[in-house]
Amino acid sequence: MGISVESVTKIYGNKKVLSNFSIQIPDGKIYGILGPNGSGKTTLMKIMAGISQFDSGRVIVNGIDARLDPIGVRRIVGYVPEAPNLYESLTPYEYFSFIASVRGIPSETAWKRAEELTKAFGLEEYADQFIGSLSFGTRQKVSIISSLLHAPKVLILDESINGLDPQSAKIFRDLLRSLANDGSAVVFSTHILEIAETVCDDITIMKNGAVVAQGSISDLLKEKHLEDMFIELTSDEDISSVVNALRGTLRQ
Ligand code: ADP
Repeated sequence: MGISVESVTKIYGNKKVLSNFSIQIPDGKIYGILGPNGSGKTTLMKIMAGISQFDSGRVIVNGIDARLDPIGVRRIVGYVPEAPNLYESLTPYEYFSFIASVRGIPSETAWKRAEELTKAFGLEEYADQFIGSLSFGTRQKVSIISSLLHAPKVLILDESINGLDPQSAKIFRDLLRSLANDGSAVVFSTHILEIAETVCDDITIMKNGAVVAQGSISDLLKEKHLEDMFIELTSDEDISSVVNALRGTLRQ
């Protein structure tokens, strides 16, 4: 069933952060949302996770209408925010058992998943230290593990791979692939092209809250190198003209 975002508009103050935005994210694939900072990625991810409201349009997540039943959406979604807000004075294991009880996951199931994932991410040595004392990348792993404890049907990750070391990033990629192979919809946002190229099946490139290009990575690569396309599509004309003018000045 995946995620269906249909003509969604989101307005903050007098600014349209998403403008008539549509996207279809199928089960069984890893879907990337690419765009420069400020293009509306986080806003879109929060709407798909049932966390933020929107002004018009329709969002259906695994058959659940996000406007009518945002709590239902949050129940089936695993969401990893860009800057996870974790309880600093809990240890990762305490945090996992807290999340398991809030989500009503049987403790034996939660414990087994937490242990396996902790091992997979090489987090064992931190499992009993306070979260507040951990590095950004380690906290990111804690957040990823906690989002997976209820075996979500839909996984939404906001810039979550950026803080990971290469080995954990590889484990993470394999994990996303196996979740997709098991039939989950996996969507993540990034402003780093290389990540999208190595991880995603399909992508949407966005700019100023609107879709600029959509399709499979292989089709988009056929036309042109994705990097050229990304730079071309997302480059800010105002900035380029300022930079060009500066170049001219410096050459004089
Ligand atoms: P991205 O994730 O691509 O960097 P965001 O979705 O965070 O983009 O932001 C898109 C635009 O929406 C930015 O101009 C940002 O300032 C604005 N914005 C995001 N959240 C809020 C908010 N809660 N209140 C007002 N403006 C917001």
